[in-house]
Amino acid sequence: MAGIYIHIPFCKQRCSYCDFYKTTQVLKKPELVKAIITELKTRKTWLGNSEVKTIYFGGGTPSLLTTKEINAIIETVFLNFKVSDNPEITLESNPDDLSQKQTANLRQTPVNRLSIGIQSFQNDQLEKMNRRHNASQAIDCVKQAQDAGFSNISTDLIYGLPNLSMKTWEHDLEQMGKLNIQHLSAYHLTYEEGTVFDTMLKKGSIKPIKEEASIQQFKTLLAWAKSNGFEHYEISNFAKPNYYSKHNSSYWRQEKYLGIGPSAHSYNGDMRLWNLANLGKYLNGINENEKYFESETLSEIDKYNEYLMTWLRTLWGVNIEKVGELFGQYRRNSLVKSLKPFIDANSLYMKEGCAVLTDEGVFITDTILADLMILPNEE
Ligand code: SF4
Repeated sequence: MAGIYIHIPFCKQRCSYCDFYKTTQVLKKPELVKAIITELKTRKTWLGNSEVKTIYFGGGTPSLLTTKEINAIIETVFLNFKVSDNPEITLESNPDDLSQKQTANLRQTPVNRLSIGIQSFQNDQLEKMNRRHNASQAIDCVKQAQDAGFSNISTDLIYGLPNLSMKTWEHDLEQMGKLNIQHLSAYHLTYEEGTVFDTMLKKGSIKPIKEEASIQQFKTLLAWAKSNGFEHYEISNFAKPNYYSKHNSSYWRQEKYLGIGPSAHSYNGDMRLWNLANLGKYLNGINENEKYFESETLSEIDKYNEYLMTWLRTLWGVNIEKVGELFGQYRRNSLVKSLKPFIDANSLYMKEGCAVLTDEGVFITDTILADLMILPNEE
């Protein structure tokens, strides 16, 4: 099984927390769509014989694409790859891009899952984040999508924001609970290098929230998820039964994926490849048949580390016997030894032969991984 990710890098304005590759050169959209179609045709061998079960339009802002452009890209995938019956096809969207008419038109395309970037139901927080929509637009957008017939909707929220009080966070979650959505991605704010929030933090004009408040907000999120029928299946992801994101799960389950468009990453089990995070260079590379990507072949140690990093994030956890099968008994046995102190400290627990994070363990995921992973020159 495999997935295809399509990166649409255009944004009308830059959100204060975001470090994804994006550009405001929306006028180049027709040229980008043409290049994406060319790249799809030229890279059809990357996935080997694996069947494509998910297609994901991410960004940037894929909701800036017209339905004609979306259909042309999906049609190219179907013509050039082996696609499973009824693949999951997700499109990320911003609430202000989807009018009632656009949502209804989108429903006529093969897109069957929407991921809507809500981030907050507080207008003052949305302004600080430099989002282009307000809280009522976000609520209307979800309702419009439901009225148009979308029955698989994911939304995003951000917590751990400066000055986000518990009361406000509880209100955001309560509001989310009323929307009858199937999936929620809830991320703690991180101050990524080069973002507006990072600059403000360095200048001292904003303060990060206290660690105890972060922990409290995460615990409130877990309690909300439980009482609203959501399963916590990855550190930041929650879904109603049968509505896990198949596309994102394939990353964490180490299935193959093909990334198309500027800055998109690809993985086939032995190699990683990433397209240049520069629209001009990407377009030039595709049009002039020149190199537009970098790549690396994964060593055995890289593969072992990635196995731990991806599976530990999930509710399935790290399968001890699978580690033995893939990396040998020596690795398996030393992993078992390294896991023990974390199991004793209730940061991990064993479930059907797999080491899984406890709710407390989630807070120290990086510490656990740093201890379990192997350094390139360590043996
Ligand atoms: S969060 Fe989304 S809309 Fe905002 S700048 Fe990043 S990619 Fe663009």
